[in-house]
Amino acid sequence: MLDLAIIGGGPAGMSAGLYATRGGLKNVVMFEKSIPGGQITGSSEIENYPGVSEVMSGLDFMENWPEQAMRFGMQHRMDEVLRISKIDGIFHIALAGGEVVQAKSVVVATGATPKRAGIKGEDTFFGKGVSTCATCDGFFYKNKEVAVMGGGDTALEEALYLSHICSKVYLIHRRDTFRAAPITVDKVKKTENIELILNAKVQEVYGDVSGVNGVLIANLDGSIRDLKVPGIFVFVGMNVNNSILKQEDGKYLCELDNNGNVVCDLKMHTSTAGLFVAGDLRIDASKQVVCAAGDGATAGMQALEYVNH
Ligand code: FAD
Ligand code: NAP
Repeated sequence: MLDLAIIGGGPAGMSAGLYATRGGLKNVVMFEKSIPGGQITGSSEIENYPGVSEVMSGLDFMENWPEQAMRFGMQHRMDEVLRISKIDGIFHIALAGGEVVQAKSVVVATGATPKRAGIKGEDTFFGKGVSTCATCDGFFYKNKEVAVMGGGDTALEEALYLSHICSKVYLIHRRDTFRAAPITVDKVKKTENIELILNAKVQEVYGDVSGVNGVLIANLDGSIRDLKVPGIFVFVGMNVNNSILKQEDGKYLCELDNNGNVVCDLKMHTSTAGLFVAGDLRIDASKQVVCAAGDGATAGMQALEYVNH
């Protein structure tokens, strides 16, 4: 039986593993369905992690994390977890391959994934002109015009990134004020090849078998603008990955708030003993790498204490 199972290999999960194993916990496994690194690996740049003054891509930034996180004995299994349940005080972790692993304690650090906007044509053309990752797909639109949808930090930062690759970026937002940090809004406004289309809704993404040909935008006055772009990047927020906590009877293993975020205290304890949470999927998460790493450290230390006592 594992002492600790960590679900998710983003900044929160890797920090939890580092602290738990360096503190002396044995038999610690981090289950990550993909390559460790988390959602920041899809970001074009990170410049706000304290102590790291060099601006770099999310992929480069996370490069050294797995080696350090596993230095003290944590193991990584590339497996998707389908469900965590607790039977007679022991956690049962059901993997996509059918195996069930038992553990004394669990840190859930499954983070968040990009939301879909629900626009007509979005699903049809997803991966064929509709994208949620500028670093992954931006290069396909070198010297072409693209559309970006959203008004948060992700939309504006990725619009800036795309402005260096693409000939023009149309930033479409449903309001005329942004959620993004003022410094980023300022940079966007000063970028010549970004055109702001405000108080406007993307109504439809259209195309043919070869991919996207354009997007239809509805303005407040009811008029429609047809943007003939081959690509649109949708950045309309994130959904927390809480599905592994859902039990067969439809209830959740621990308390969630109305938005599906995991309720926890300042030490990352959930309402279920031995189950800890860290990072973007907890209540009141600041949704920053540094905060996820901090949560992970706390959760790792708390798991260590739980197992030892
Ligand atoms: P995540 O990074 O989401 O990691 C969760 C991991 O769990 C993923 O690797 C996922 O594959 C895995 N997982 C999920 N479900 C399962 C399952 N069932 N089984 C196994 N594995 C699973 N923050 C900053 O501080 N600075 C920035 O500049 C910045 N820029 C950003 C730019 C973009 C485009 C985005 C999307 C986010 C940005 N953020 C930034 C936010 C930052 O990335 C997140 O706050 C941080 O990654 C959260 O870490 P986490 O470990 O909680 O979750
Ligand atoms: P977000 O802050 O939730 O912003 C989502 C944006 O999409 C909002 O502007 C929202 O409009 C818009 N939107 C949502 N649904 C829509 C729909 N159906 N149609 C049209 N527009 C829609 O999401 P995010 O930008 O992905 O950021 C997520 C978190 O990560 C935030 O906490 C953010 O600060 C953090 N993050 C930080 C950094 C950084 O530190 N540099 C970088 C990226 C992300 P409204 O504004 O009208 O609601």
